[in-house]
Amino acid sequence: MGRPLRPRGKRLQEDTRRHHRSLLLQQLFREGPASRADLARTTGLTRVTVSDLVGELVGDGLVEELGAPAETRVGKPPTLVGLAADSAHIVGIDLSAEDRMTGAVLNLLGQVQHRHEVEIAGAKGADAVALVHRLAAELIAMTDRPVLGIGVGSPGVVDAGGTVIDAPNLGWTDTPLSASLAEKFELPVVVANDANTAVLGEHTFGETGDGGLMVLRVGTGVGAGLVLEGALLHGHLGAAGEIGHVVVDPDGERCACSRTGCLETVLAVPHLRRRLADAENAPSRTAVLTTAGEQLGVTLAPVVGTLNIHELVLSGPNELLDGPLREAVDRTIRDRTMPVSSAGLVVRTSNLGEDVVLVGASVLVLAGQLGVS
Ligand SMILES: [Zn+2]
Repeated sequence: MGRPLRPRGKRLQEDTRRHHRSLLLQQLFREGPASRADLARTTGLTRVTVSDLVGELVGDGLVEELGAPAETRVGKPPTLVGLAADSAHIVGIDLSAEDRMTGAVLNLLGQVQHRHEVEIAGAKGADAVALVHRLAAELIAMTDRPVLGIGVGSPGVVDAGGTVIDAPNLGWTDTPLSASLAEKFELPVVVANDANTAVLGEHTFGETGDGGLMVLRVGTGVGAGLVLEGALLHGHLGAAGEIGHVVVDPDGERCACSRTGCLETVLAVPHLRRRLADAENAPSRTAVLTTAGEQLGVTLAPVVGTLNIHELVLSGPNELLDGPLREAVDRTIRDRTMPVSSAGLVVRTSNLGEDVVLVGASVLVLAGQLGVS
């Protein structure tokens, strides 16, 4: 488990002040504008500490005075303060598509302000890194605000320092993407696996609870990200959620990884589209989606039984995922787990649609720089 994404309660450490700033920012981030008295009450900090830190945050431009609330009361109404959503912007980059790198400039509430993309056109290795640099530079040029940092969701396994250990599509092996971006742009940079980035986006901006969340990304590959007990699950070697190459059908198709019948050969978008194109009529197309959903359900039932997660979010093309496939996943997991495991389970598609990795990339920066998520 990593550190909790959201600050909780008071603690006495040398970074107490930074922690207290994060508590206030988190409160304003989650709940919206508040008076200083409200902030003191909800965070448990003293009025003096709150006033002092709010003054500092206003000075930094991250928080703004909003005046008095609309309703009139007896006596002088309290002044509200709120997060200044456009006081700084964040560059988010999504490298998960096969043919292009997409990027956005987002504000501090994860709202997309500008979009931009570049074609990959077969670029690999150093050329692909140069392409990320170009996209980042062009995005930075699109905003006139200070840039808080750059967040990147990359395919493959990514270590805690933002080095991409292995991403075959982009020809990257032990590629220090985070370090090269930080050196070039002199900004904070966070690079994470695209499924892990997606689950952070969904957790922060997708109207989820704190009961355990798994986001299954279905694209050219298949991978999952998990937030459990308020923290992103990394796993022993940073490869938690790499479920795409679990064998689900030993008699199935040969996979790019040299095994036979991996989940990806059943579920990845190119495979699904090909089977749908081969299907002769509507009932057989429904059967293709139902079969894929059942195989996914068989794969995920032990995970749901083990972790007792609350929400399973399918992220990818909704025309493929939201319908017979999602229904088959839901039904199969329920058939194969105890009621206590599945009674509260919600199986749905992402509220953030195709932006989930871009929004998640902004969360990487928000969590790292402001301690909010
Ligand atoms: Zn495989």
